[in-house]
Amino acid sequence: MRAYSVNALVLRTYRYSEADRIVVFLTEDRGKKRGVAKNASASRRRFGAALEPLTSGRVAYVEREHRDLVRVDRIEPRLTPLASVPGRSGDDAARVLGQVTYFAELLDEWAPDSAPNERLYRLGAAMIEALNGVGSGDALARYFEYWLMRLEGVYPALEVCPRCGRRALPDGAVLALADRAYVCGDCAHGGPRLSRDAMTFLRTAAGRAPADVVARGGPPEALREIEVAHNRLIAMHLEKELRSTRVVKQL
Ligand SMILES: [Zn+2]
Repeated sequence: MRAYSVNALVLRTYRYSEADRIVVFLTEDRGKKRGVAKNASASRRRFGAALEPLTSGRVAYVEREHRDLVRVDRIEPRLTPLASVPGRSGDDAARVLGQVTYFAELLDEWAPDSAPNERLYRLGAAMIEALNGVGSGDALARYFEYWLMRLEGVYPALEVCPRCGRRALPDGAVLALADRAYVCGDCAHGGPRLSRDAMTFLRTAAGRAPADVVARGGPPEALREIEVAHNRLIAMHLEKELRSTRVVKQL
């Protein structure tokens, strides 16, 4: 047995037995973990509101030999994106709640078990702060998706069309899903289009802090174009991951 106390983000929880819950959490330096929180429903002293998705804090847990599930002893919450919800209007509160779930799900799907990924942890932690801010939730979601794929090394290049190698893309591009690339209009054979505004948002988002992205927002039409492209890229990536895990399990 080994005991740890680490910085982590709670991604989700689900019922394990009458009183216990499973907590899935992303640690700062030890990857994603799954643990049993004994008496989680009853013990507000040890868990309190810490089991809300995307809560960041300090998690004390014990690893046991030959067991995948750790034992979660205590969570001290530091920051939760739900903190700002009571002060928001109905629509805005619903938007934040929806995004909390969406971001936590994506982090969960993206993070491999127990492989340390400090940059993914930092991205998640930055999102919590930004979700507490006021501004464009859509801009924040597109920014989050961009960085999630970029950290994984699967985000398409934004500057030059890889098919002809010549046309600069800042004026607009088309997603060529099979190549996982943005290509110029001359090289495209159909696919979701990204306008000049969309390309500008993506190129500038790369260098900005999430709080700044939320505050500034972006043209709604451009954000919708990016959403369509990102949905396809994410679905493709996750499908590929699922297939490769299946293959590994069959070996
Ligand atoms: Zn081209």
